[in-house]
Amino acid sequence: MRKPKLIISKCLNSEKCRYNGQAYDDKVISLLRKYVDLETVCPETEIGLKVPRNPIRIEKYDNKYKLVEPSDNIDYTSQMMEFAEEFLSNIDDVDGFILKSKSPSCGIRDVKVYPKNQKCSINKKGQGIFSSKIIEKYSTIPIEDEGRLKNYNIRDEFLTKIFTINNLKCENSIWDFHNKNSLLLKSYNEDIYNDLNIIV
Ligand code: SF4
Repeated sequence: MRKPKLIISKCLNSEKCRYNGQAYDDKVISLLRKYVDLETVCPETEIGLKVPRNPIRIEKYDNKYKLVEPSDNIDYTSQMMEFAEEFLSNIDDVDGFILKSKSPSCGIRDVKVYPKNQKCSINKKGQGIFSSKIIEKYSTIPIEDEGRLKNYNIRDEFLTKIFTINNLKCENSIWDFHNKNSLLLKSYNEDIYNDLNIIV
């Protein structure tokens, strides 16, 4: 039986790839391990950054977002974009992503954005450079971060989506999927369920 396939930030899998070399043991990932297939990726080490390393951050200037190491004024934006494009072009099947919150590479919505050469971030928060490419390419696939998955409702919705997508891939026919998931589909939207009923 196929399991849902998730791509996750490597540091959420207790691997010591963070800038400070510390491991992060995420409870949801630990619990999920038995029920899903996990593939991990650390975009920062993939582009050659060492562990430990100087912190990097998102800077905004000239209306562009850049991935910068402020201590040595190194711009990693192009390298990260190239890695993201290559990595995503090699994925043939995925049902969801769990990415590290607040990271300038992996964060999906709460990443601090700094003006160039300033110590204080601006009020607006943004996305990491790697995750923005995932969001751009996979608009119909569930993408969450470990921080948001601590919320019961968000977690419930995320898990429902990935296991339902997986069920769809496992069924022999759309008719079987529709029948077996009728209560779930109805609970989300009865009008759309009725439209689907006619189509199926
Ligand atoms: S947040 Fe992303 S880039 Fe940073 S250590 Fe974790 S996997 Fe690597």
